[in-house]
Amino acid sequence: MLKYHKETQKNFSVRIVRWYRLNSRNLPWRENNDPYRVWLSEVMLQQTRVEQGLPYFQKFVKKFETIFKLASAQEDVVLRLWQGLGYYSRARNLHRCSKIIATELNGEFPASAKALQRLPGIGEYTAAAIASISFGEKVAVVDGNVFRVLSRYFGIEVPINSSEGKKVFSTLAQQQLNESPDPKLPPGEYNQGIMELGALVCTPRSPRCADCPVSAGCFAYNKNLIEDLPVKLAKAGKRERYLYYLMPIQGKSVWMKKRSQSDIWKGLYDFPCIESDSELKAAALKQKCKSMAGHGEVALLGSVTHLLTHQKLFIACLTMTGVNEVSLKKNFEGKWYTQKEVVRLPKPKVIDDLLKIYFKKISQGK
Ligand code: SF4
Repeated sequence: MLKYHKETQKNFSVRIVRWYRLNSRNLPWRENNDPYRVWLSEVMLQQTRVEQGLPYFQKFVKKFETIFKLASAQEDVVLRLWQGLGYYSRARNLHRCSKIIATELNGEFPASAKALQRLPGIGEYTAAAIASISFGEKVAVVDGNVFRVLSRYFGIEVPINSSEGKKVFSTLAQQQLNESPDPKLPPGEYNQGIMELGALVCTPRSPRCADCPVSAGCFAYNKNLIEDLPVKLAKAGKRERYLYYLMPIQGKSVWMKKRSQSDIWKGLYDFPCIESDSELKAAALKQKCKSMAGHGEVALLGSVTHLLTHQKLFIACLTMTGVNEVSLKKNFEGKWYTQKEVVRLPKPKVIDDLLKIYFKKISQGK
């Protein structure tokens, strides 16, 4: 199929860059090619829509104007600012990476994708994005948008989420840069162009082929195969977890702990938790709570189903008043935090929502 399309793809890269120059969105990280801003935006936008990531980018560059300011911040402050964006390991790695660049590299980002990949949290994609956009290195990016455009344009049926697919599409993406008819083709603009085309025109559903700069040579468009490409292997089901949070309270103070285990939400704060692979009966749960935290009053605050990429969390939160602090300390880590302190702690969104419900209740005297 690649051979079939060799002729028609000649001007693919040139057309993409031309289109990008006229149609790219005006986004703050595109104001200049500063590697600090490019890096922040690329990390923030992984698995995240631009509209969702944009306010976080603005908050970050306002609070941490330079990589030195980010490096000298407390991890809790960085995580608190990241709160709600999810995939918190990105924030922890971002912070670790900033410290290395600030202290060991004098604030300078390495200029090649290979060297960038040695830093925490910078994988193949992010390294290629920074190296091409900020330093003009001829290295292709491959993300979900690139997979889709290339698969449709070149008519490639290899599943994009298979190891073979990763190799095929990376090679093809790089080929577009290496074999471009324009020897001066700017790699950063080409990479941003193909991603922008995937985000704005060659969308997963109902692509706007009439507005596409490469429709004349597009295999899927010309063969009416747009719905069939790209091909994806079915994913394994999500792991189901039942998290029963116990929220010990003492007036306006709440018992919270920092999550230190290698699990979701590492570094964020939540409440003592009883976890189960299946649903627990209410009576058994209450009994368990009382035996672990003393004979206080237990009441359901709220329950919610929370979806993560690979997990489905069934969460119920029970408030506990009149807890026995000795039993509490014996069974759970953590300490009391006042309402003011709680607000400043970095928390998973779902925990933040539960706390808001609780503080609203007490402010209404319920
Ligand atoms: S013609 Fe349509 S399917 Fe082909 S690359 Fe353009 S938008 Fe995508």
